[in-house]
Amino acid sequence: MPVKDLTISGAPEFRKAKSPEKPPSVHASERPQKVGFVSLGCPKNLVDSEVMMGLLARSGAELTRRAEDADVIVVNTCSFIESAQQESVNTILEMARHKTAGKAKKLVVAGCLVERFRDQIQKDIPEVDAVVGTGELEKILFATGVGTPLPNNSPLVVIQSRPEGDARAAQGRFSRENWEGAVRDLPNYLYDETTPRILATPRHMAYIKIAEGCDHPCTFCIIPQLRGQFRSRRFESVIAEAERLAQCGVREITLIGQDTTCYGEDFGLKDGLALLLEKLAGIEDLRWVRFLYAYPNKVTGKLLDTIASHEKICSYMDVPLQHASATALKRMKRGGGADVFLKSIAKMRRVIPDLTLRTSFIVGFPGETEKEFEELCDFVREAQFDWMGAFSYSDQDGAAAYALEKKLSSREIERRRKHLMSIQRQISKKKKKTLVGREFDLLLEGESEETELLLEGRTAMHAPEIDGKVFINDFPEEIKPQPGQFYRCQITEAHDYDLVARII
Ligand code: SF4
Repeated sequence: MPVKDLTISGAPEFRKAKSPEKPPSVHASERPQKVGFVSLGCPKNLVDSEVMMGLLARSGAELTRRAEDADVIVVNTCSFIESAQQESVNTILEMARHKTAGKAKKLVVAGCLVERFRDQIQKDIPEVDAVVGTGELEKILFATGVGTPLPNNSPLVVIQSRPEGDARAAQGRFSRENWEGAVRDLPNYLYDETTPRILATPRHMAYIKIAEGCDHPCTFCIIPQLRGQFRSRRFESVIAEAERLAQCGVREITLIGQDTTCYGEDFGLKDGLALLLEKLAGIEDLRWVRFLYAYPNKVTGKLLDTIASHEKICSYMDVPLQHASATALKRMKRGGGADVFLKSIAKMRRVIPDLTLRTSFIVGFPGETEKEFEELCDFVREAQFDWMGAFSYSDQDGAAAYALEKKLSSREIERRRKHLMSIQRQISKKKKKTLVGREFDLLLEGESEETELLLEGRTAMHAPEIDGKVFINDFPEEIKPQPGQFYRCQITEAHDYDLVARII
C-alpha cells in the first residue's frame, strides 16, 4: 500500500487506500440503521460524540459498539498534537477496512482533524464518504444518511464575543487562510440543554461542556483555529442539563471547556464559573461537582472561596501551567513564571487546605535552554503537585511556534520529558504514602480493568480518566459493592500513583 508523505511537516501521515473507487451511495430507501462510533481525544471531543450520537438516535439510528455490525462508522478525531493526528489517521484507516472487507457502507470522519485537513482526508482516503467539522455537528445526520436536521432545531448560539477575542481575531489568531480546504467561517456551534445527547460515560458520571473555543494566544496551540472564538453556554442551560442528568442517576459532574475560568465573560458575567458551581452544588442528587482546565491568571479569590465553602464541589483544581520559566512562557505567549505561580499555588492551598492540584507542562518548546528546563524541574520540586502530566513539544503547522528557531531534537525532548516525570514520580510516591491510614469517600467504578480480583474506584482527589486509581481489595462481608455507589474507605497501601483501599 503506497504511503503518502505530506509536504507539510508536523502533519500526520495519510495513506492512500487501495481502491480509488467510491462505493455506491446509500439511497433513502435503504438508509443505514446501525451506526458505530469511535471517539478519540479529550472529554470535550467525547461530548461532541455524545451529541452526535444523540442526534442520530433521535432520528432513528441504532447505535452499536461493534464496528463489524455497523452500517455506518463515524470516527470523531483529535488534532491537538502530531501524535493525536497520527492516531486519528490510523484509526480512520483501520475503520476503512470495515468498508472494503466488511459490512459497513459508509465511513464518516468528524472532529478537529476535519477542521485542519478537510480536503486532504477525502482526497487521500477515498473510503471516507463525508466529513463533519467541529462547528457542524448536526450535519452528522446528512453525512451518515440517517436523516436530515429538524427545522429550527439548532441550539440558539448568541455570539457575544469577548473583547479579547475580537482583538485577537483582528491580529489573525483565528486565521485558517493557509489551511488548504478549511472552510472560511470559524466553528460557532454549541449544544444546549435541548440537544439530545447519549452518554458514553458510566451511568453515574457525566461531563458538561460549559463553553467552547478559546481566545488565548498560546503560540504552540491551534485549538482556537480548530474550535473558534470563546463562547459560553447560557447559565440556565447548564443548570437545566445538570438537573436532568442528576434525575437520570448521574452523581458526579465534571465541567469542561477549553478554558472554564472564562465562563460567562462573553455575556458580562463576573466570576461566572464560581456562580455556576455554587448553583450546581445546590442540586440535591449530585454528590460531586468539579471543573477542569483553569487558566492560571483567571483563578479568582471568589472561585477559591466557592470551592472551599461547598462540600459538593471537589477540592480539586486542574491548572495547566505549560512551563515555569518566565522566558519560555513569554515565547509561549502565556506570561507568568515560577515566582508568580508559587504565590498563587500558596494562596490556593491556604484557601482550600485539602486541595488536590493537577497541572501539565510542555517540554522541549523551541529554544528551551538547559537553564529554562532546570527552572522547570526546580519549580516542580517546590510546587509539589498531586498530579502532573508532561507533553513533548511537537511542531504544528499553523501554530505561531512553528516559525520559531532553535527547535530541539525529539530525542532531547524525550530525555527531558522522562526526567521531569521521574521527579514527579518521587513527589507522587511520597504524597501518596501520607494518605495511608486515612479515610475517604469513594465512588466505586466497578471491577478493576487490570484484574477481576480487585474493584476500583475514585475519591474526590481523582478526576475521571486522568488521575491514578484506587484499587479495593477488601470489604465487609455484608456489603455487596455496587458500581456508581459511594462507600467510605480506608487507604491501606500506596504506590507511585495508585492507592489500595478497603471499604469500611
Ligand atoms: S488556553 Fe492556550 S493551550 Fe489552552 S486551548 Fe487556549 S490557546 Fe490552546
